[in-house]
Amino acid sequence: MVGDRTAKVLYDAFAIKTVGDLLRHYPRRYMVRGELSDIAELKEGDEVTILAEVSASTTRHIRGRKGGILEVIVTDGSDKLSLTFFNQPWREKELKVGAQGLFAGKVGVFNKKKQLTHPDYQMIVDGSDVDNAVDNFAGKYLPVYAATSKLPSWKISQCMDMAVASLDDLEDYLPDEVRNAHNFPTLQQALVQLHSPADLDHAEAARERLTFDEAFLLQLMLVLRKAQLRKLHSVSRKAKKGGILEAFDAALPFELTGGQLSVTQEIESDLAQSHPMHRLLQGEVGSGKTVVALRAMLAVVDSGGQAALLAPTEVLAAQHLRTFEKLLGPLGHAGMLDSPRDATQVTLITGSQNTAARKAALSLAATGEAGIIIGTHALLGEKIEFADLGLIVVDEQHRFGVEQRDALKEKALKPPHLLVMTATPIPRTVAMTVFGDLDVSTLRELPLGRSPITTHVISVLEKPAFLDRAWERIREEVAQGHQAYVVAPRISASGDENSDIDFLFGQETNDITSVEELAPRLAGDALAGLRVADLHGRQSADVKDATMRAFAAGEIDVLVSTTVIEVGVDVANATVMVILDADRFGVSQLHQLRGRVGRGSAPGLCLLVTNSPADSPARIRLDAVAGSLDGFELSRIDLEQRREGDVLGASQSGTRSHLRLLRVLRDEELIERARADAEGIIAASPDLSSYPGLAREIAQLAKDAATDYLDKG
Ligand code: ADP
Ligand code: MG
Repeated sequence: MVGDRTAKVLYDAFAIKTVGDLLRHYPRRYMVRGELSDIAELKEGDEVTILAEVSASTTRHIRGRKGGILEVIVTDGSDKLSLTFFNQPWREKELKVGAQGLFAGKVGVFNKKKQLTHPDYQMIVDGSDVDNAVDNFAGKYLPVYAATSKLPSWKISQCMDMAVASLDDLEDYLPDEVRNAHNFPTLQQALVQLHSPADLDHAEAARERLTFDEAFLLQLMLVLRKAQLRKLHSVSRKAKKGGILEAFDAALPFELTGGQLSVTQEIESDLAQSHPMHRLLQGEVGSGKTVVALRAMLAVVDSGGQAALLAPTEVLAAQHLRTFEKLLGPLGHAGMLDSPRDATQVTLITGSQNTAARKAALSLAATGEAGIIIGTHALLGEKIEFADLGLIVVDEQHRFGVEQRDALKEKALKPPHLLVMTATPIPRTVAMTVFGDLDVSTLRELPLGRSPITTHVISVLEKPAFLDRAWERIREEVAQGHQAYVVAPRISASGDENSDIDFLFGQETNDITSVEELAPRLAGDALAGLRVADLHGRQSADVKDATMRAFAAGEIDVLVSTTVIEVGVDVANATVMVILDADRFGVSQLHQLRGRVGRGSAPGLCLLVTNSPADSPARIRLDAVAGSLDGFELSRIDLEQRREGDVLGASQSGTRSHLRLLRVLRDEELIERARADAEGIIAASPDLSSYPGLAREIAQLAKDAATDYLDKG
């Protein structure tokens, strides 16, 4: 349909292969062209279109500058007009003397001469129908496409006109009832109106329909996946009367919060089903997700099965082991003399443990002696076998991809139940888009007796003395028997390739505080006399573990650390955190970090130290963190500053390329509607057999998602 060369450029620049691909290259915006006029009648400021012939063309170069000014004189018999282009030398070839074209723009005056600067134009090929060209050009709403110098927007328009014209009786996959309910144009109408709109209202209606399509197809795929999971058979896991869960509850040193109780009930009723649970537990930092997860695991142990907990870091895996051992007490000592009848064992599998420990853990998992297996990515390894894996809990879901949780599922005899937890709460429609195949439970409330965390921004630029005051505050807290965190963005002064930071703003990385410099400096000066230790991702797992244990045991006063402590670390006696170069971290990340203090009954204090000037974007972010303790609100602020791809994260990598128009934060209402419609469709036709058009679209979407995933390796 288009020439070979154009086809190649379309493919190279935009990966456009088919007519369908081309039609999905949507305009970025529209321009309105003026009506056809005679040059003699033009007045300054008019939006016009003229039909004229090139009578002269010259390029002037300006010394010391690249490019030049191309001036083209055109005439239509009534008068002459000058067209000016800056630094676009390639246009000279198109605008050859004698060539005829349509030129549109706003009339300007320079040196008393009327002219068009950078007019939008279309050359008329010899022998083609001029009237037709005029009709198609003048007065039109003109799509402006993402273009390249080899393939300008108007050339894309020409290809698009052919593509649109070739559409004939395009089948609409959107069911009539959905389309009519929203008053949407048909697919064919929408594509035509988007690429050559009669007016902006039509373009907008088309855009809305196509945006809805993206949300709707994605939701449909997710709802379908959810429905398919319901058809799988897994083992129903119910807590036993008088079993380990009851004994655990009886010994629990605190009362569950209302939120924990209701989430627990949701989970227990899911586990009792004979199809796999597929649930996301999202919660505010410190809301007590761990104990909820442990109770679910114990219900599975009660039923004779095993539960695995996948943690993103060794620090966290080790901490979960300690927490579980502490909370379970003798209930975790199966096989020992002191153990009660229903006791089980908890074991840990990590990449860095020594051969003997690994061997013992593998055997406990394989024989079923361990009812609870905690691990890092090492749990996914080929050699790891389970006797009867009934439940997988993924802590801090955002650190894992779907593929990883699927790898663990493979290790179960029957499809296991799945509980994923995330400490970064996300807005509802983002959750719906990213985790739309999961049921969602939310924990907003913190356990009673917590004092809120106070947060202050310390500007080193404005008040250098306040930094001394920060160290002073640490000394005061330690004097009262509490502990402190000091967080720095980097591990070492030189090179950041091994840094733990995953979110760096700006490019300047000099002068950023590093743990390796800071820890000795503080120990020798501002915090002299206190027990200071450092912690970062380049240390061996043994060192990290020993440091965390010592900190948890109160043997270290101040932990100077990178973001390895960002998520999950739970030491209730720590009351103050000083974050240096806080502007280097994202909003949600700061909220997570800050969640490490204020976990006990003593009030928490978080000091965000920065060099960024007042009113800078970085400072505004920090003020937002200081001004709110609501993780949901902060995550919205965080997401609004990210690019769409980062909002959706790795979990949707495959379907991301289908989302051209949809913006999850902006289009919330549309997503809600799409979700409701998708649920209606699946309820009416669970396998989509009544909607063959939709079934085809979904199959394609699923296939592309799989290929995208493979492409990314
Ligand atoms: P997160 O949801 O951030 O993972 P954790 O599960 O680490 O939070 O819980 C934070 C702390 O709160 C832990 O020390 C935990 O023992 C404690 N905790 C959990 N639930 C309660 C409760 N209902 N009452 C008092 N303390 C609780
Ligand atoms: Mg946690």
